[in-house]
Amino acid sequence: MTRLLLAVLFVLASPLAAQRTVAITIDDLPFVSRDRSLAVAREGTVRLVDALRRERVPATAFVNESKVQVEGERDARVALLQQWIDAGLDLGNHTFTHADFNKQTADWFIDDTVQGEVVWRPMMRKAGRTALWLRHPFLHTGGSAEKRAAYERFLASRGYRVAPVTLEHSDWWFASLHERLLGQGDTAAAEKVKAASLEHLDKMLDYHEGLTRKLFGRDIAHVFLMHANTLNSRILPEMLDRFRKRGYSFVPLAKAMEDPAYQTADPYAGEQGLVWLHRWAITLGHKTGAEDEPDPAPWLQELNRATPR
Ligand SMILES: [Zn+2]
Repeated sequence: MTRLLLAVLFVLASPLAAQRTVAITIDDLPFVSRDRSLAVAREGTVRLVDALRRERVPATAFVNESKVQVEGERDARVALLQQWIDAGLDLGNHTFTHADFNKQTADWFIDDTVQGEVVWRPMMRKAGRTALWLRHPFLHTGGSAEKRAAYERFLASRGYRVAPVTLEHSDWWFASLHERLLGQGDTAAAEKVKAASLEHLDKMLDYHEGLTRKLFGRDIAHVFLMHANTLNSRILPEMLDRFRKRGYSFVPLAKAMEDPAYQTADPYAGEQGLVWLHRWAITLGHKTGAEDEPDPAPWLQELNRATPR
């Protein structure tokens, strides 16, 4: 009996046995890159969509339609969005221009949101999918309670749900450095940055999982934010593997949000693009600690400074 109990405790303590879930969300579609060419967007889209389809990972991806409206490339860029839908992945609204809500009026931002659903929304409807998700650019929610409330009234009246974020790892920072190094022809350094971004993913997951236990006393169903960029398109299978090794399985966004943690109030009216764990920390009376998130290692920061923009 004791031996059985020990075995059970061992299994419970093992990270591999954890029944963790995460919803993958991908921002800045069709694609975000310093090189804005259609060719780069096409190659990256195929890699991202193929990886998700092959591994049967559900995902919700958020579109900036200003990047679809490129003269001479509109049909080709709409076709990139169609690839996601055809693979069973969902699209949502990330506003038309990816503007900073903190710097805009609520009326302007609402207009940018309406303009941001002209293409993908009918495409989703045609595929029989009608859920409406909004992801705030920069996770900025307006910077004042009044603006935030006005925008949320609009979202509710139009049938949108806000897609929160609980996990992220500054992938955009690594992607920018990686792309600049490749542009300089320094593939050796680019490879190092690629490996370092995976290390940083694990570090940030450690950090956010710890914060989650501090806030809720348990694991919660998470929502992970990443971007549709070249670096991620090359390492997505390895990223997914890092999650699996920690005991995660992948669920749709709506499923993750069935976790009662998402009922926690979030009255944050400040200007920072905080992930929801930090917003809930404020609500639950913990010291907000976005500043104690792990930074990229010093050698990476030095490399970043030394690599021209
Ligand atoms: Zn974005």
